[in-house]
Amino acid sequence: MDFNIEADYLQRGTWKKSVFVLEFSDGFICFAGAYLTKYLQAALQLQVFLEKYGYLHQEDHIHNEVEVQSAISGFQWLSRLPVTGELDGATLRQMTEPRCGVSDEGSRHTWARRVNAIFTGRRAAAGPPRSRRKRSVAQGTFVRRTVFVRVLFECVRDPRKATDRIHCPKWYKRHLTYQIVNRPRHLSLGSVRLVVRAAFQLWSNVSGLLFQEAPGGPADIRLAFYEGDHNDGASNAFDGPGGTLAHAFLPRRGEAHFDMAERWTLNGHKGHNLFMVTAHEIGHTLGLDHSPVRHALMSPYYRKLGRNLVPSWDDIIAVQQLYGKRMWRYTGSVLDPGFPRRSSDLGLPRHPDCAFFYTPLGHMVLFKGSRYSVLNLGTLRQEPYYPRRLTDWTGVPQGTNGALTRPGGRLYLFREQRFWRFDPVKVRVTREGQWAKDLSWTGCGNTPRSNDIL
Ligand SMILES: [Zn+2]
Ligand SMILES: [Zn+2]
Repeated sequence: MDFNIEADYLQRGTWKKSVFVLEFSDGFICFAGAYLTKYLQAALQLQVFLEKYGYLHQEDHIHNEVEVQSAISGFQWLSRLPVTGELDGATLRQMTEPRCGVSDEGSRHTWARRVNAIFTGRRAAAGPPRSRRKRSVAQGTFVRRTVFVRVLFECVRDPRKATDRIHCPKWYKRHLTYQIVNRPRHLSLGSVRLVVRAAFQLWSNVSGLLFQEAPGGPADIRLAFYEGDHNDGASNAFDGPGGTLAHAFLPRRGEAHFDMAERWTLNGHKGHNLFMVTAHEIGHTLGLDHSPVRHALMSPYYRKLGRNLVPSWDDIIAVQQLYGKRMWRYTGSVLDPGFPRRSSDLGLPRHPDCAFFYTPLGHMVLFKGSRYSVLNLGTLRQEPYYPRRLTDWTGVPQGTNGALTRPGGRLYLFREQRFWRFDPVKVRVTREGQWAKDLSWTGCGNTPRSNDIL
């Protein structure tokens, strides 16, 4: 009978079923034998996992059912699983995936602010509030269960991680140095240096940051390989092959640590690719949190080396909101020589509201506050007699922060939830409204429950 319950729990069980098992087991702990041990181990592992990655508080290891469901929902959201709050098979499997050891706490909040900044045009705040969650009132069986947890796992608490995340979200300089402190014995120093340089380049290519290796130190960012407990907190101890691969600290501690026990590879199919993991951990050292976007470098899960090595749109927006933008120019799909360039080097406004190609003029147009500029695409300099007043664009308000041209030549401008349609023939706004509701081609009319649109 025990075996049947367990199989049901593992295949399609929910958290509620596991609670039932624990309640049942409390009275028969002496008779349930090995199967009960498995239940308890699974529950303990679940709690340790959700606490380690910031979904449950660690203050007293007591959590009520609502908190646990909310924690599972948060984990499912960041992992791009259907958000049910139930501990189903897919959620359990996801918890065993190789991943980064940095906590996911605050990632959802940061992501919401980042995306909100895209639509509102306001710059995202430097960092999310990281207040520790309040101690909750324990209820029912969770009190009894957590007695075990408190005894076994009290030693994993590490307040340093929380305080790091409150105070130091970014670097206040653009030129950063790095040092490779050590490396896996089976990889040559030359190849590791190449891989690390390429990983830093992914970030410098899309931001105003520049990186330079300082082989002898001192350096702003230090990359080192360690095994097991390496003196930065018991919860940061590495766990051998699989599981946690690496972790890093937010600015300005400037450290990324890699599990020496992993089978690190540079181009092989077996093992974990050092380039991919390094690129991810560098993101943390720059102040980035985990991302829910499927192909983001900052997704907490290990991603194999593939053809598509560029940072995702979410990585780019995240690093640019912290460190400024660059400008790219492509001919077809090939980046022109000399690009990307810093927009300030070209004499352009550092934070334009929006920019778009305007066919009637054959030039780029750039809105900034109450004025607009017209840029020559060849020189990327302003045309003579600009900037001019935005009132030339009859009906267009200040502060629009997105623009696109639809087939037929009509220009759509966006600010927060609203849009303005500009007719280039009538030279004025001919329609306005709420884009999600009124523009069916945006596909935003319905809000899906799961987050698979990412
Ligand atoms: Zn990470
Ligand atoms: Zn460490």
